[in-house]
Amino acid sequence: MNLFSKFTLAALFIASSLAAAKPNIYILATGGTIAGSGQSELSGDYKSGAKSVDELLAAVPQINDIATIKGEQISNIGSQEMNDEIWLKLANRVSELLTKNDVDGVVIMYGTDTMEETAYFLSLVIKSKKPIVFVGSMRSSTSISADGPLNIYNAVSVAADKNAREKGALVVMNDEIHAAREVTKTNTTNVAAFTSPNSGKIGTVNYGVVNFYMAPLRKHTISSDFNIKDIKALPRVDIIYAHPQDVGDFVETAVQKGAKGIVVAGMGNGNLYPDTEAALAKASEAGVIVVRSSRTGSGSTSVGSEVDDAKLGFLTADNLNPQKARVLLILALSKSSDKAKIKEFFATH
Ligand code: GLU
Repeated sequence: MNLFSKFTLAALFIASSLAAAKPNIYILATGGTIAGSGQSELSGDYKSGAKSVDELLAAVPQINDIATIKGEQISNIGSQEMNDEIWLKLANRVSELLTKNDVDGVVIMYGTDTMEETAYFLSLVIKSKKPIVFVGSMRSSTSISADGPLNIYNAVSVAADKNAREKGALVVMNDEIHAAREVTKTNTTNVAAFTSPNSGKIGTVNYGVVNFYMAPLRKHTISSDFNIKDIKALPRVDIIYAHPQDVGDFVETAVQKGAKGIVVAGMGNGNLYPDTEAALAKASEAGVIVVRSSRTGSGSTSVGSEVDDAKLGFLTADNLNPQKARVLLILALSKSSDKAKIKEFFATH
């Protein structure tokens, strides 16, 4: 073999090992603005979930340079329409995919309205160290300066990065990486809508260059007490929003309709109008788990500051916002109705 043939052979070998080294990333599409289509490039008027996963991936061919991609459609809805059935379907599919040796991570394209809830749910029930990355967009795919394609490129880059392992589910939006437990949507329309008010983002991703600065410490994925394989149905948990001159009627209705748990988005440090407080105490007495959280958007709801939790039978949400507290309470109740055990879940997850 002459020198030229040897060189060609070596180059082919290097090229094929590089190709083989590309991680395999599965992209699951569920709908949302990222798949939205509008009448005009200059209108926020659009239909969520109008484009298929294949159409969305075709808009970002660059992802094929960083990973071997497979796409799959789970649903095509606005995420405000998310329900238990699709939640369980999505979680079971992610769990199944991540057990395969030839899947290195998943990216979930999702509507931004309820991304924080679903990211936290998956972070608590999937038993895998592999990256689980949520991505969405604030502008529809037909908008001028649509943010979806770069968000998708960045999300695939994060899912392909070994440093994204063992961090629970992540949310990648607007060049930032957020932990599922902490992230929340804090703006209705701005591309910088996602923040983690209590802890800050855990990393950044700039045109695919990934940097992590922190890791979540609360139990998730492998260390979580919950496993999607044990969950067949989810109990009803309602959120009630507190305000001055409140009434107890909504609490009573929630109990009558079969709520097993109630999260109250209290005023300030989880405070309640007296009528609502009385109705919640009655619900708690009847065996409904009541968790006080705050409508302020950040901070912990402290035990027994202005509300006598011990006397009234309430738990507090730690620093989870009401919608995250609902996710954890659903899972907690799917496993136990023991208040002390549920309190422990809130202190550790
Ligand atoms: N309501 C839609 C959804 O959550 C739009 C929000 C979005 O994706 O940006 O799917």
